[in-house]
Amino acid sequence: QRMRWAVVGLGNYAVGQIIPRFGDMHASRLTAFVSGSPAKQADLGARYGVSRFYSYTNYDEIAADPEIDCVYIALPVGLHAEYTIRALRAGKHVLCEKPMASSAAEAEAMVAAARQANRQLGVAYRVHFEPNNVDVLRRIRAGELGTLRHINADHGFNATFDWPPHIWRLQKALGGGGSMYDIGIYGLNTSLMMLPGDTVDWVSATYSTPQNDPRFAEVEGAVEYRLRMASGISVQGSSSYCYSPYFSRQCYFGSAASAAMQPATTYDANSITMDGGNLPQRTFRAGDPTSQFAAQIDAFSRAARAGVPHLTPGEMGLRDMRLIEAIYRSADAEGDRVMVGLAV
Ligand code: NAD
Repeated sequence: QRMRWAVVGLGNYAVGQIIPRFGDMHASRLTAFVSGSPAKQADLGARYGVSRFYSYTNYDEIAADPEIDCVYIALPVGLHAEYTIRALRAGKHVLCEKPMASSAAEAEAMVAAARQANRQLGVAYRVHFEPNNVDVLRRIRAGELGTLRHINADHGFNATFDWPPHIWRLQKALGGGGSMYDIGIYGLNTSLMMLPGDTVDWVSATYSTPQNDPRFAEVEGAVEYRLRMASGISVQGSSSYCYSPYFSRQCYFGSAASAAMQPATTYDANSITMDGGNLPQRTFRAGDPTSQFAAQIDAFSRAARAGVPHLTPGEMGLRDMRLIEAIYRSADAEGDRVMVGLAV
């Protein structure tokens, strides 16, 4: 039997990417919406055959709804912790959008709430289900790059006041942090996806936020960071709200070959360029990137059904929140090394 899902927040990402993909899923079914807009619910309900509607005020009543097993949190970051914890207390499993929360303290409370409720909590790091990134991970593990030495991760776009989903991203209360929270987290999390079993010893970082830019009164516009891994590998990343066009690149440098992805973490266009070894440089696609949405939600459904942690559990989101806080601490201190000792 498929797990039944409620989507909380009917914004750009939920409406554009998540809700339409339920049609591709095998282990999941969409049964409910939580939204402040009855008109949006009626419209989307008619399009997707959903008839169970909740508002933010009667949200806790989902506890009594047997047609909801799992909840997908697609709200602004500042609301993730509250709505996740309320869903867990209502007895539902929760897949929460990235970044997990406004702070590591909030993320800790979410993980604790999941344990207390005996429910699964996942963070929607869809890249772990994207076939090209999964293929690079397989190649690294198989030793095709030789010994991995260095990872480069660069992600950014131009955040403007005049496109609604960016307004809350520029406010600390709703965005939690700046570009590192919203877009830089892809590079951070994807790089660590390639380094299972390693440990982040320390981080250092600097800001390059433009001065006197009215967009960045509350959150940072751009930050560059370095993670020093216990293995000796270094991860160097950047995150920005200050450039155009949208950019997403991951590069993996090994002793025998390199793998570059540009774009690396988009919804539908990721590809791989392999260089080195005995083969000429070649660019290819290991699989259809659009499959990541259904794959992610079906994997969560199966994990929740089996009572085992999702591939990207709440603890991973908490780790990343701790790392971002360390990156900010270092950047606030003009690049001072911040020891973290966090296991990947
Ligand atoms: P959005 O602004 O389009 O959607 C947010 C929704 O929350 C809106 O429907 C809004 O009405 C609702 N909402 C409820 N209470 C609100 C309040 N108090 N203030 C503001 N909005 C409120 O944003 P989005 O781009 O859809 O992002 C939603 C979430 O999805 C974020 O956590 C974001 O980081 C994440 N996201 C993930 C990806 C990905 O690829 N995984 C891509 C885009 C966004």
